[in-house]
Amino acid sequence: MPTAPTCLRLAALLAIVSGCAEPSARWWKGNTHTHTLWSDGDAAPELAAAWYRDNGYHFLVLSDHNILSRGEKWFPVLDAPGSRLTSERVGELAARFGTERVEVRDVEGKREMRLRTLDELREDFEQPGAFIFIQGEEITDSFNRLPVHVNGLNLADLIRPQGGESVLDVMQRNIDAVIAHGHAHDRTTLAHVNHPNFGWGVSVEDIARLRGEQFFEVYNGHRSVRNDGDADHPGTEEMWDIALATRLTALDLGVLYGLATDDSHNYHQVPDGQSNPGRGWIMVRAETLDAETILKAMLRGDFYASTGVALRRIERNDRRLRIYTDAEPGVTYTTRFIGTRAGGPVGEVLHETIANPAAYRFRGDEFYVRAVVVSSRPHPNPFAVGEREMAWVQPVVRAR
Ligand SMILES: [Zn+2]
Ligand SMILES: [Zn+2]
Repeated sequence: MPTAPTCLRLAALLAIVSGCAEPSARWWKGNTHTHTLWSDGDAAPELAAAWYRDNGYHFLVLSDHNILSRGEKWFPVLDAPGSRLTSERVGELAARFGTERVEVRDVEGKREMRLRTLDELREDFEQPGAFIFIQGEEITDSFNRLPVHVNGLNLADLIRPQGGESVLDVMQRNIDAVIAHGHAHDRTTLAHVNHPNFGWGVSVEDIARLRGEQFFEVYNGHRSVRNDGDADHPGTEEMWDIALATRLTALDLGVLYGLATDDSHNYHQVPDGQSNPGRGWIMVRAETLDAETILKAMLRGDFYASTGVALRRIERNDRRLRIYTDAEPGVTYTTRFIGTRAGGPVGEVLHETIANPAAYRFRGDEFYVRAVVVSSRPHPNPFAVGEREMAWVQPVVRAR
């Protein structure tokens, strides 16, 4: 039996525990795939950052190809057709961000502008609880000319493309490098496989066999990435189901989460540009806005992907998956619960409803259940004709 002083101490402890409410979780909006003049985007990094900050995003990964936004890099200022940085654009940057932030020089009669670094951008744009950058890159690799692109998030240093003996090997080595980097630098990192159908580079069989962290882009806003597949290739939604079913049954490899990203390159041709910002994003449920907390929430599956549909709440427990859509007046929302059951077809629509909240009660024979919410409203700046605003809810894996 505890002594009186022990009881007092316990009571005090309990009072502290019950009185110390956890900071409540909320949704944070972010894009993890963005390009700038640091590689093949057409915007200075400050212009890209301002676009996201001013459009309601809370976190942004500037994921240029095989480069971090650090060190001294000068970009040519050319007034020729097709130039990504003209003297007019330099003038616009000076007018918007201040002449002191635009550094130009002339080298042998050629004008150049210095690109602002992530450290400088952090100074100008980051605000606690409102907007942060997460350092990252698009590790841009290939096998036999097939593109293999993997984003590494929350990196301390550059990771070079790792190469390999096959598409799967290249992908796995780059993912392993991101995971090892996290261990070496004692930080949470995350890798996501990008636009699998770009150049028909990555097959569903490859994605199904990935080990380690498991994320891929179910939606990428670039116009060349073939999210919908074609007659000979499954679209990314179908890939998700095939990969999940294979992973969770034959291979025992665990869940695969889906992201929506912009892969934004074109900021100067809106709305009919090739890959504009604002097409697809993720909403992460977390207590605080910092890279570690955001990534840990994603690793738990506490996020959804969106191209316009906002969700208020997602409830998952042993019995059901329930989704509360943040409905807008005059818009209808159809929620489809999709899963694969023992002995059933892959990626079956298990339940479809326009109710809000939308709920699906598990029958007990599902390997996983995920959901999509499709809006009646067309996407204002779609990657493909006919696209409607959507949200993708992460799969719930059923214990068997
Ligand atoms: Zn790419
Ligand atoms: Zn990209």
